[in-house]
Amino acid sequence: METRLSRRDLLRLLSAAGLGAAFSRHAVADEVGIAPVAATVPENKLIPTPDGPRYPAQWIGGKVIQPERPLTVVNETDVLVVGGGPAGFAAVVASARAGAKTTLVERYGYFGGQWTGGLVLLVISSHARENGQLVKVLRGIGDELLERLTRIDGAVVNQAPGKFNPTSDPEATKFMMDEMIREAGVKVFLHCWVADVVMDGPVIRGVVFESKAGRQAILAKIVVDATGDGDVFAAAGAEHERRLHAIGLVHRVGNADRADRTRLAEAGVKSLGSVEPLSSVKWVNLRGPSTDCLDVGELTRLEMEHRRAIWNRVQQLRKKPGGEELFLLQTAPQLGVRMSRLLTGTHQLTYAEAREGKKFADTIAVGGAQNGQHRGWPIPYGVMLPKKLDNLLAAGRCVCVDEKLIEDSRLIASCLTTGHAAGAAAALAIQTGCRPREVEIARLQKLLLSQGAYLG
Ligand SMILES: Cc1cc2nc3c(=O)[nH]c(=O)nc-3n(C[C@H](O)[C@H](O)[C@H](O)COP(=O)(O)OP(=O)(O)OC[C@H]3O[C@@H](n4cnc5c(N)ncnc54)[C@H](O)[C@@H]3O)c2cc1C
Repeated sequence: METRLSRRDLLRLLSAAGLGAAFSRHAVADEVGIAPVAATVPENKLIPTPDGPRYPAQWIGGKVIQPERPLTVVNETDVLVVGGGPAGFAAVVASARAGAKTTLVERYGYFGGQWTGGLVLLVISSHARENGQLVKVLRGIGDELLERLTRIDGAVVNQAPGKFNPTSDPEATKFMMDEMIREAGVKVFLHCWVADVVMDGPVIRGVVFESKAGRQAILAKIVVDATGDGDVFAAAGAEHERRLHAIGLVHRVGNADRADRTRLAEAGVKSLGSVEPLSSVKWVNLRGPSTDCLDVGELTRLEMEHRRAIWNRVQQLRKKPGGEELFLLQTAPQLGVRMSRLLTGTHQLTYAEAREGKKFADTIAVGGAQNGQHRGWPIPYGVMLPKKLDNLLAAGRCVCVDEKLIEDSRLIASCLTTGHAAGAAAALAIQTGCRPREVEIARLQKLLLSQGAYLG
């Protein structure tokens, strides 16, 4: 019988014979045998090149013209959520659990948006203070995710009674989002960038997206824009405003537990970064210029300039007494865009209303206090409803708030809760056969409460 040894098995045998280290120094990168599905196709197999119609842009009269072309519809769904960040994640789980056929499209290969891909690990505003007591306002799907992370060693800190503003490990968070999305039965399209919308007059009928397979479409009865940047509502022509705000790049420093903090402090280094579940790692937040995140030239410049500044910072740290073992573990795969487009909704929630704790008949979530020190602020349904367009909802950092409240509404906890509400509202609209703006608020609130949400 033929015995096939994997490279790993071979290394193990060689190590046992005392030869492993010498061998592995000259070998290619090690591979682990955890491929999810056994390969049924032989490696390096030649396959036919597809031979369908092509519609390249044409150079006509000094202009690049995109010819008219039919698009393949790859999916038809009840609720389509675009963007798998905190808001989109909560929206799809809520919608699917409420019984709607739900689809999620995400431009990258993982969920979590700025939380995981942007390495913003600290979930601020999970709690508020009511009558002197710390009250958890981040409940429902976002809180369920964090609670499930507490069962994994090294996945989350400060998710416990009496604590607030938990910090989670990015890989554990991605993993748990995968699990919850899978369990809910959501149809997922990763590596798909939504580039346009399908309109039927003032009603959105779906989206057009780009992927390695080219330009295709998904049709939906209701679309939730959870792109953070409002890509969908902008393409649909919804009224909105644009804001420029500090675009940073988060990074992580490794071997933090091997640094001599006393000597570093003497050398003027006060902090290595913020706490993570892994004691050997610190994450470092970074502000940056308030520039336009819709301008690819600016995004390109910032990526490269931030990366150089971060590299230099960590090299300087390594030269300080006590910092010799520190190293740059990672810069975030996603540039840190804090805000861009904000929907002009049927209700613009103001900072004054929020600090007053104003109550609304259509409250669908409650925002928290950054430092756990002030009261919660009810969030009305109108912040996510466009003024005119139908069958479209916005969730997350692009909902309708005033200039001052954005600093609160864009935090992860608020994005999780508005996402949860948008998903539940979309599912209810499907169930009752109405437009999202006609959803019966009492029924929506009942559904949200049954899904564990907090409404004050
Ligand atoms: C540098 C920085 C530091 C921050 N610090 C903190 C902090 O300490 N604590 C805190 O609570 N919050 C913090 N925030 C804010 C918080 O991280 C974000 O506001 C929050 O993640 C927004 O969630 P979201 O789901 O609305 O959007 P995002 O997290 O931006 O997610 C949007 C998702 O949509 C996808 N997407 C976008 N466009 C498309 C498209 N056209 N097609 C398909 N998919 C698309 C994206 O890939 C992404 O997955 C920080 C933000 C930044 C940038």
